[in-house]
Amino acid sequence: MKTLVIGGGMAGLTYAIVACNNGEDVTVAERNSRVGKKLAMTGNGKCNLGNEIVTADRYNDSEIVRRVLEAISVDEYRRFLQGCGIFTYTDSEGRIYPLSDSASNVVDCLRHKLAQSGGKLLTDALVTGVTKRKDDYAVDIGGSTYAFDKVVVACGSRSQAGDTCIERLVPATALTPMFPSLVPVKAKNADGTLNGLRARAVVRLFDRDALLGIQRGEVLFRDYGLSGICIFNLSALIARRKVAGLDGDYRFEIDVVPDMNEVDLSDIVGKRFRSGEGDKAFYGILHNKLGEYVLRRAGNDATAAAHLAKHLEFYFDRLLDWSMSQVAAGGVDEAFVDVDALRLGNGVTVLGEALNVDGLCGGYNLYFAAASALYVFAQSERAKLSLV
Ligand SMILES: Cc1cc2nc3c(=O)[nH]c(=O)nc-3n(C[C@H](O)[C@H](O)[C@H](O)COP(=O)(O)OP(=O)(O)OC[C@H]3O[C@@H](n4cnc5c(N)ncnc54)[C@H](O)[C@@H]3O)c2cc1C
Repeated sequence: MKTLVIGGGMAGLTYAIVACNNGEDVTVAERNSRVGKKLAMTGNGKCNLGNEIVTADRYNDSEIVRRVLEAISVDEYRRFLQGCGIFTYTDSEGRIYPLSDSASNVVDCLRHKLAQSGGKLLTDALVTGVTKRKDDYAVDIGGSTYAFDKVVVACGSRSQAGDTCIERLVPATALTPMFPSLVPVKAKNADGTLNGLRARAVVRLFDRDALLGIQRGEVLFRDYGLSGICIFNLSALIARRKVAGLDGDYRFEIDVVPDMNEVDLSDIVGKRFRSGEGDKAFYGILHNKLGEYVLRRAGNDATAAAHLAKHLEFYFDRLLDWSMSQVAAGGVDEAFVDVDALRLGNGVTVLGEALNVDGLCGGYNLYFAAASALYVFAQSERAKLSLV
């Protein structure tokens, strides 16, 4: 069985390694000069490989996600990683990292395991076409055409990467529109005053009066708008709505004093105003710059300032582009996929981010990329998942 895996990222390398161990003659075609370029950027270079608690609600609504999570446990994933020589630890928030704390070391381990397993690697090999023939596939790689018995599309997305040519690898009708997700947002009323400031916060995303989501964590204020993990996770809700053809009149409401209720805050701020120290109303509560900003926006009114600190509104303008995003919302639509085999009608298997699956920050995307590959083998009674 001559198998071509398109893409040497987490999904493609996982698939290729297990396929080699199941006797397939595997070639990985990677458009870059090295595999795992995106993988090496993950988790700020530390690679947040997964999470101890992976549930379907960490992803968009997807039957594929539910089936993959049911079939592949975190322990199964860890066994695969260990089979590749990657040992892990878990931080206090349940996020799984390699013991090496190095994403490029994870790439090295996977590349080494692929070579040890007999997998072939074609680099600088952009795949631009896949055509199903009677008994095989004709695949265009770097301007030449090659024949393979089986094709696996694991090309990821355009997030911080070039065009994947996915509409030439799978039937274009099988694709949803795709949008950058886990991405900073441009806000209409950002004025740059807070650029670079980080605040612990609770952030609510509304479409007019409808609450779409809440996140607690760090917000990073930027000159153009908002960033940080809270915002990334909420951006996913907007991006998924765009995939579904929905737009909205979005606003972020940020509580920058999440550990004090509005009555107590109002009391303290009011007292300071009454004693002639309104300019110091947020001393000991907020970063000076943020306190001054809140006071200015509240027109130096005590009640308004306390309320604003609990409900600092930013009006959504747009999601920033692919160059700033971590994943894509959208991709191969599961309506066109045989969910048991992650296979399209033409027999091509699709894995990882190329599918219309996106998870929140916290290791869920790398986990899904690998788990989707392991899932395909777990479905077959004859296949071995174990690498040892
Ligand atoms: C900066 C950043 C940080 C991130 N941090 C984390 C994190 O810590 N934890 C987490 O879970 N997720 C993280 N993610 C998301 C995660 O990296 C992706 O979801 C995951 O890598 C997807 O894996 P994949 O194998 O499906 O795709 P990719 O990793 O994107 O791999 C696809 C591969 O296919 C190649 N390719 C594409 N098209 C072609 C073609 N036509 N021909 C040949 N080769 C092709 C690409 O060059 C690439 O190497 C992060 C993403 C970014 C951008």
